[in-house]
Order: sequence, then structure tokens, then C-alpha cells
Amino acid sequence: MEIHGFNKTTLLDYPEHVACTVFTGHCNMRCPFCHNGDLVLMPGGQPAVSEEEFFAFLNKRKNVLEGVAITGGEPTLQKDLPVFIAKIKETGLLVKLDSNGMKPEILRTLIEEKLVDYLAMDIKSDKAHYGECTGLPGIDLKPVEESVSLLMENRVPYEFRTTVLKPFHNRETFEGIADWIGGCERYFLQSYVDSHRILRDFLPDEEKAKYPAEFTAYTPEEMKEFEMLLLNRGMKSVHVRGIAE
Ligand code: SF4
Repeated sequence: MEIHGFNKTTLLDYPEHVACTVFTGHCNMRCPFCHNGDLVLMPGGQPAVSEEEFFAFLNKRKNVLEGVAITGGEPTLQKDLPVFIAKIKETGLLVKLDSNGMKPEILRTLIEEKLVDYLAMDIKSDKAHYGECTGLPGIDLKPVEESVSLLMENRVPYEFRTTVLKPFHNRETFEGIADWIGGCERYFLQSYVDSHRILRDFLPDEEKAKYPAEFTAYTPEEMKEFEMLLLNRGMKSVHVRGIAE
């Protein structure tokens, strides 16, 4: 496993659990607003943590932690992910995995082998705008659609979530998302938070120029309006994450 750091304790990354978070390098998407741009574009240049070091930490802390959240980058690109997770599960801790859904076959294996306790999958946009949101014009959406269908079989607790920002999301986006994943168990809208590590800023100038100089979050009121739109369009469960109620 290519581990590029871990957060020793988080109350935010694994819903309802005290967890640590492991960051993996590389991704097969290029979302310009990605807040781990360096981990995606230049993973080799980031400090690495050995598995030995991680498991030494985990074994010391397993009595105070309830779970491990594995995020990225895109963790399903790590060839030994199932083995790594199996080792975590030997400690008795729960495992949550974050994924962009581009590798449904890996997600299927992890579910069938009962290696994940919670899956969080990004829904970047409605289908029509997936390419511009992920920096992959002409993206083949079949793997993402397959992952969506797989999670909606409900064999493991899961959530879908969208990081919401201007200029990528608007009412039309959420109408499309509601029509796509409307029957899902849990859907979260997450407000965009600006960071000094966004992917766009690491791109060469000619690519950077394709994007606006600033990405901006919607206000809490606007986020609640999107939530209402989704509920009115028939979504079962929608929540806005990270804003004061
Ligand atoms: S935000 Fe996009 S580019 Fe960044 S890790 Fe997630 S899927 Fe990859």
C-alpha cells in the first residue's frame, strides 16, 4: 500500500465512529477542485508512511479507535487494498472506504469478502456534466453507474455524497442527480472548502486556464435550497453536511 500519511484521530471521517484516516496516493479522476491535488498528481513527491509504521500505530491505538477510514486519492487503485484491509480487520476495527466508483469490480470484491463496513462514494455531478467535473471530458460513465447500482443493492451500509461548488453545480445538476440515485439510502451534500492544495493549482498554465480563477462555495441557505429541491424531486434521504443547522 502506498500510504501518504494518516490522521491519528477523526470524529468526522467515519460517521458515528472515532476513527483514524489513511491517505493513499494516485487517482483516476482529475477533479479540478480536489483538495488533495498533490496526492493525486505528484504522489511520489509526498512523504510516505510504511505499513509497519501504520500497523504499529494501529495496534497501540486499537482500544481507543473504533474504525479506520481509507481515503485518497483513490484507494481502489492500490493493488493490495484487500490484503491491507484484511490486516486492519484482524485488529477488530471497522473499515470505511471512500471511492469515486471507477473500479466497481474492486468494490464488489470488498463487499463479497466482507472487508468493508461502510462505503462512501462520490457522485461528482449529474451524468451530463461528469466529464467537466472530473477533468475527464468524454469519461465513460459505465463503471461509475455500475458502482452506483452495486451500492444500491444495499449489501453494506453506504452513502453517496457530492461536494458542491460554483461553477460546477446548480439546480439542473441536482435534478439530474435526483433522477439518477433518488432511491439511495443516504445522500449528503458537502459544501466546498477552499484549500491551498487544490488540483487546478498544480496544473500546467494552459490546463489551468480552462478553469475559473476561483471556485466558490454556496451559502448555507443555498445548500438548504438544493436539499429541498432533491427532496421535492423524490429523494429518500438528503442531508447537508458541515453547515450549522
Ligand atoms: S476529488 Fe477527484 S481527483 Fe481528488 S481524489 Fe477524489 S476523485 Fe480523485
